[in-house]
Amino acid sequence: MNKSLYDQKTTFYIKTFGCQMNYADSEKIHRVLMQAGCLKTLDPTQADIVIINTCSVRQKGEDKVFGFIREIRKFAETTGKHPIIGVTGCMTRKTGMAKRYLETPERDQVYNITLLDGNGNFWNWDDPLLLRSEDIDLVFRIEETGHLTKMLSVILGRDFGNDEKWEEYLKISQVSADGASANVIIQTGCDNFCTFCIVPYTRGREFSRPIDEIADEVRKVVAEGAKEVTLLGQNVNSYGKLTKKKLWNEATFAWGKTDEKTPFRELLDTLGGIAGLERIRFTSSNPHDMTQDILDAHFEISALCPYLHFALQSGSDAVLRRMNRKHSYQDFKTQVNYLRSKNPLFSISTDIIVGFPGETMEEFEQTAAAMREMDFDYAFIARYSTRNGTTASKLEDDVSASEKARRWSILNDILRESVAKRLKMMMGREEDILITGIGKDDTLVGRTRNFKEVYMPRSSEITVGSSVRAKIVGVDEWVLRGEVV
Ligand code: SF4
Repeated sequence: MNKSLYDQKTTFYIKTFGCQMNYADSEKIHRVLMQAGCLKTLDPTQADIVIINTCSVRQKGEDKVFGFIREIRKFAETTGKHPIIGVTGCMTRKTGMAKRYLETPERDQVYNITLLDGNGNFWNWDDPLLLRSEDIDLVFRIEETGHLTKMLSVILGRDFGNDEKWEEYLKISQVSADGASANVIIQTGCDNFCTFCIVPYTRGREFSRPIDEIADEVRKVVAEGAKEVTLLGQNVNSYGKLTKKKLWNEATFAWGKTDEKTPFRELLDTLGGIAGLERIRFTSSNPHDMTQDILDAHFEISALCPYLHFALQSGSDAVLRRMNRKHSYQDFKTQVNYLRSKNPLFSISTDIIVGFPGETMEEFEQTAAAMREMDFDYAFIARYSTRNGTTASKLEDDVSASEKARRWSILNDILRESVAKRLKMMMGREEDILITGIGKDDTLVGRTRNFKEVYMPRSSEITVGSSVRAKIVGVDEWVLRGEVV
């Protein structure tokens, strides 16, 4: 048992892997530990508790988790300071603390937990993943974050603040790393089952929070100083599918076919009326679940920013079908063109996978052509890698690594060109910039409303979190340079 946990203020460090949802989840863990009286440290070697929030999207991500744990343990051997190591996130969704580990004599206390057994299936023996490491003290699913203090109480053998108010994970308000921008989770899980994706298995079925609960949380973060809120979910456009079971009808609400409002649009309308909230963004959006009213919201709700992260994945309809993506390239193009016809500076970023099983040269060329045609403001281009547990893992990974690298490089060159072209369109404009940080060379860093990063000379009276007007005076490869007006 770590003596320092009794002798002084308990410190914690949270290591987050993966997507923005995971970062938001980590902010919830931060809140729970902070309210239990712990202090956050930015140095994992100084922490009494290290929580690792994991990502399962790639095997590499899982390997990194075990590498990080080994590093912490190795360092602990030299200092004698052994932190409690806890693992949560996607890797633990179907994984509980390894039975073999629990049965070691010094973990008897943990084995005897009854408080948490039962309803939440707190311990889950059937996934051998964590047998790969004996260095983990604690494993919990992210939905069990509300029980974290109880778990620590059992492991540490002292009351660590069993706070009943954390009963529901989604209601735990987050601690924002940057006071001006807050993440708010509106929905979790995904029902789309894209064949390459592990999320529906790690996060489970889609679940949406009620509008009132989200609106209350947004009001709270705005009252605390947030000017920008990013609404997070794996599939935000289908928000409300479960909470309003019969209201949502995919056929009726298919893009462009109705004047009625989807639950997600209702949510945006509600949040758009909150005084003091200057910017709303959301992610992730799926072209298949996108509707006309959500696209229109960008021009009808003043706080909703002209930026959309919209995952195309491939420009080939045949590949999209193999991916079980239910949109076609034409669907995607129609939606993007609609946004840009109303605002040519509307920014679109996307996700692309190259070398998906069976991707022919012709199919790849269709993706390259789509990237040229769509002029993306940014794209995350990934080389396909097999993810065990997904449907695509049963397909032969038949595009060689060198060919994937070649295709990736071609797409990256196209991306450079489109990014440069889109950035140049901003030259000479005066923009509202929300200051998000201070750059390495003592510059102010901020974002335009259409999510372009802008670097400006530092000025002592401008602080992080403030909004300024700036003139765009230059382009530096992936970012803009500006001068405060
Ligand atoms: S929409 Fe597809 S890629 Fe996105 S989380 Fe759901 S299954 Fe995964």
